[in-house]
Amino acid sequence: MSSTPPPRTYRVKSFGCQMNVYDGERMAELLGAQGITPAPDGEAADLVVLNTCHIREKAAEKVYSDIGRITKEWGRKDGTAPLIAVAGCVAQAEGEEIMARAPAVSMVVGPQAYHRLPAMIAEAVQGRRSVDTDMPAETKFDALPARRKVGPSAFLTVQEGCDKFCTYCVVPYTRGAEVSRSFNDLVAEANTLIEAGAREITLLGQNVNAWRDDRGRGLEKLVEELAAIPELARIRYTTSHPNDMTEGLIEAHRDIAKLMPFLHLPVQAGNDRVLKAMNRSHNVASYLAVLDKVRAARADIALSGDFIVGFPGESDAEFEDTLRLVEQVGYAQCFSFKYSPRPGTPAATMDDQIAPEVMDERLQRLQGALNTSQLAFNQASVGQRCTVLVERRGKLAGQWLGKSPWLQSVHFTGDAAIGDLVEVELVEAGPNSLSAKLSQPAHA
Ligand code: SAM
Ligand code: SF4
Repeated sequence: MSSTPPPRTYRVKSFGCQMNVYDGERMAELLGAQGITPAPDGEAADLVVLNTCHIREKAAEKVYSDIGRITKEWGRKDGTAPLIAVAGCVAQAEGEEIMARAPAVSMVVGPQAYHRLPAMIAEAVQGRRSVDTDMPAETKFDALPARRKVGPSAFLTVQEGCDKFCTYCVVPYTRGAEVSRSFNDLVAEANTLIEAGAREITLLGQNVNAWRDDRGRGLEKLVEELAAIPELARIRYTTSHPNDMTEGLIEAHRDIAKLMPFLHLPVQAGNDRVLKAMNRSHNVASYLAVLDKVRAARADIALSGDFIVGFPGESDAEFEDTLRLVEQVGYAQCFSFKYSPRPGTPAATMDDQIAPEVMDERLQRLQGALNTSQLAFNQASVGQRCTVLVERRGKLAGQWLGKSPWLQSVHFTGDAAIGDLVEVELVEAGPNSLSAKLSQPAHA
């Protein structure tokens, strides 16, 4: 590879989970601090960062087709290809293999090493390709520039990695062991997010409720501290593990008004044998017991979850148990996936892998049940008065889009601005959103 002019414009494209969205924003800020600016819409970029997801095979394979497409579509004006960096969990898992399969890629950087991107770009400009999938002891967070401009709803990564080793999952391998960021660093970053425009902060972690500070304090202490910041209106957290739902965190839903009434608590399956084979360390009864406690603390809590259908050996009757659980819980919204064998995980070599057509049929039935549940939840909200945090303009003139406390998408027309918290009455429910009537324009 010969030398190339230093990049002046960039584009970062993130796939997968919210933590990738957060990482993508931080990479963009890092590039901005180097004087590299976002490529205007529709224009070529000198540098493209693909921030990838490895959780399912389809997501991982997509990287290779994207590289080809991007090389063609987003090339520089003079016809040369942009510099391409592959970041995220595919980078971590496949490292050198990406270099071998995709000659257009000049940088491969893992999720714990992306603060080193500027040095890698300097190498790439000289025509040298590099791979950095270290999990360095020094944290990337110390090396990243401060947050400057964010939307009304911002993410804040508080915890990374996972020690749970569910038998289907690559996260413990791609993101490493559970590590919590320090209390003081998080409060400082939250304050910069608020100064940069955030009114809502969602605390992120692969197992966010496993967050502990060096004094052993749990997530509720961090929530309590952030709730005391007057300019911050709302706090959320995701994704939680059922076994890490402590009494303290459950009580925070009762005691802290700024903690929104929404809990994403993946269960994965509704059958104990399957849960055991998944190494989930909770069973159906213990999961339901947690939900009972949360509902006792905050009666209006909206519940969400993740499901996998077609885990190796899952029988028809075991799948029916999942449908029963969905009916019993009454979820507000959920994610559901077909099991995808991931190289290196124990489940990938288990006997009785389920046929694709069986998985298709189960996913369709499960999604039907989840859609019914979501619509019922939305319909039950009609008539409620609540606040909406305005996030963007809608497609129609004078229309605004935002989120209810229960994380429903809400649209309304009237006098408002991005970042406002407005009072509305929910008047009509669809499966994916609700329409509302403005009660009181509340420029905050
Ligand atoms: N730590 C969180 C938990 O345990 O609930 C979830 C993290 S993972 C990024 C998000 C979701 O992806 C999981 O909850 C699971 O439903 C799904 N997932 C993970 N590995 C999968 C696989 N091999 N096939 C299908 N879905 C998978
Ligand atoms: Fe993956 Fe299980 Fe860890 Fe969640 S708890 S990240 S599903 S290993």
